[in-house]
Amino acid sequence: MTRPSETAAISAQQMVLQETLRLTVPLHIQELRCHTTDTLMAISTQSAAIVGSKGDILQFHGRRGETTEVFNALARGLAVAALLAYGGVDFLGIHWCADPGCQAGSRFHHAADAEPADLPEPPFEPPPQPITDLPDLAT
Ligand SMILES: [Zn+2]
Repeated sequence: MTRPSETAAISAQQMVLQETLRLTVPLHIQELRCHTTDTLMAISTQSAAIVGSKGDILQFHGRRGETTEVFNALARGLAVAALLAYGGVDFLGIHWCADPGCQAGSRFHHAADAEPADLPEPPFEPPPQPITDLPDLAT
């Protein structure tokens, strides 16, 4: 059971995370906007590995510099998701997408309100088609 003082501390910690992400994710989006899909995918893979293996540091803290590494990996990963995912990405109640002027409150509102012609051009080529001529290994 969480005591009221712990609940207040968690709430304050989450607010700091929200507000720092609100500031830094758009900066990462602008920095990453011109990169190729392959580069963005590599960044997302790297970010996911860091957040997946050390994400608890954001909540419980780590050695000097580790929190920065994990926070930046989270922010860059969210920026890549904003650029690559249709409708963008939502996290902690904040929405980011490839459209810098987007006023949507979430990726669901973004996708529902926008006509395909209104959406910004994706900064990448369509993904390659799945390989359909694989050899039959069952025989
Ligand atoms: Zn949007």
